[in-house]
Amino acid sequence: MTTLIEQLRAALGSDQVLIGTEAAGYLTDQHGRLKGRALAVVRPADTAQVAEVVRLCRAHLTPIVPQGGNTGLMGGATPDDSGQAVVLSLARLTRVRAIDTDNDTLTVEAGALLAQVQQAAREAGRLFPLSLGSQGSCTIGGNLSTNAGGTQVLRYGNMRELVLGLEVVTAEGDIWNGLRGLRKDNTGYALRDLYVGSEGTLGIITAATLKLHPLPQTQQTALLAFGCIRNAVAFLSAARAGFGASLTAFELLSDTAVGLIARHVPQQPLPLAPGTPWYALIELSDNEGDDHARQRFEAVVGQAFEDGLVHDAAIAESLQQSQSMWRLRDEALGLAQKRDGGNIKHDVSVPISRIPDFLEATAAALQAQFPGVRPVTFGHLGDGNLHYNVSHAPDGPVATLFAQEDAIHRIVHDSVHAHGGSISAEHGVGQSKRDLLPRYKSAVELELMRRLKAAFDPLGLLNPGKVLSHTASPLLSAPALPAGAADESLS
Ligand SMILES: Cc1cc2nc3c(=O)[nH]c(=O)nc-3n(C[C@H](O)[C@H](O)[C@H](O)COP(=O)(O)OP(=O)(O)OC[C@H]3O[C@@H](n4cnc5c(N)ncnc54)[C@H](O)[C@@H]3O)c2cc1C
Repeated sequence: MTTLIEQLRAALGSDQVLIGTEAAGYLTDQHGRLKGRALAVVRPADTAQVAEVVRLCRAHLTPIVPQGGNTGLMGGATPDDSGQAVVLSLARLTRVRAIDTDNDTLTVEAGALLAQVQQAAREAGRLFPLSLGSQGSCTIGGNLSTNAGGTQVLRYGNMRELVLGLEVVTAEGDIWNGLRGLRKDNTGYALRDLYVGSEGTLGIITAATLKLHPLPQTQQTALLAFGCIRNAVAFLSAARAGFGASLTAFELLSDTAVGLIARHVPQQPLPLAPGTPWYALIELSDNEGDDHARQRFEAVVGQAFEDGLVHDAAIAESLQQSQSMWRLRDEALGLAQKRDGGNIKHDVSVPISRIPDFLEATAAALQAQFPGVRPVTFGHLGDGNLHYNVSHAPDGPVATLFAQEDAIHRIVHDSVHAHGGSISAEHGVGQSKRDLLPRYKSAVELELMRRLKAAFDPLGLLNPGKVLSHTASPLLSAPALPAGAADESLS
């Protein structure tokens, strides 16, 4: 009887079945914190080969871990340490299959890099608006499977809102061709929407038909300073009303975050001096010419100055200045946090109107238990998504902070929940947040998720142990916190 490895080699060619040191790069997560083992890493060339791999693995009852660019931050693409699973890399499925400018759609295979898709759209005179710090290495399949967000969700939505159709290999190794370029299709259950965000646990996405948008002709970037978070939230509301659909980004940065950049990345120009509690990097995209965008900008920001909402503002006068402002947010901030010794990260969302209360309550709860720790808060205020990172006290060792990691997560996530938020806004669940779900989701919701998983993947071979655990029944576990309720007994 031939082994699975022999059958995979026969199906894909020996050079596309990696074992030993050749496989090592696929078995560790983005931060190098999670390390798994695998029977093999396979690199199919097309959808038919993906389906064949799934059928072979199924016949051997072997779990499959789909992997795109491996930039996910929740360990979803990393196998466990049993060494039983096959990692299925989509990296060779990179073809743009079609661009239809009359329908404003682009059909692309799952392993194409996000940056390549943005480029292909641009060459066709269109915009594919998903925009992430990892766009040079993450894939469209990974973006779909995590329902990725990024800096332009405020205007264009997250990945679920940018896709019209999917091609998926099911747990049985069948190919579902749902590559429909339709904006209206009410013919039953929305399977596409179930696969999006399912982190490889329901099926393997092999291609997608994506929505394209008009390419904006002018962009206006500015950094604004606010005396308090309530003013920043009030200005967001004024900006939405004043700019309408032209407002494409509203990125918040706390003074602590800007201070870290000033200290650790001194070569990064700061258009406004540190020292004001909050900053926002905003962007307008317009099709009506530079003068129009500038005039609108000055009218809305001018009114906000008069209303006392905005404390200071710097407008980018050139493409270089705009790029430098974005580097502040995209590159310098990440580097500054690393050079500061790292911190405990949270990717959360809260209704925008409750963000000021959330920030005050969470900071107070952290100070009460861990005096001196510093929240380094930034994120996509425009869609309520905060990256709420907790750094060590200036005079406290980093190791002491990390020794308290679970307790700090608990304080932040309980506060998120108490303010009606979500403990994962855009990075997903993977293995890192899996065991937190029963505390923050109701047993009914978890049971429905389990039933879906059982219906789509009855043998439990697709990315097992990600999003949902293998065993624990949510109906038997301790009752979850009611939504919006703080739980004193657990803190
Ligand atoms: C510097 C940096 C910045 C980032 N910024 C953002 C941001 O702004 N917003 C954001 O949302 N995320 C961000 N991320 C996280 C990450 O880039 C995204 O989650 C991205 O969508 C993952 O894509 P990937 O191809 O790397 O997927 P992977 O990491 O390979 O996989 C992620 C999950 O999807 C599954 N998967 C991958 N491909 C498929 C497929 N074809 N079919 C089925 N399942 C599949 C995997 O099993 C895994 O569960 C950032 C990461 C980094 C390192």
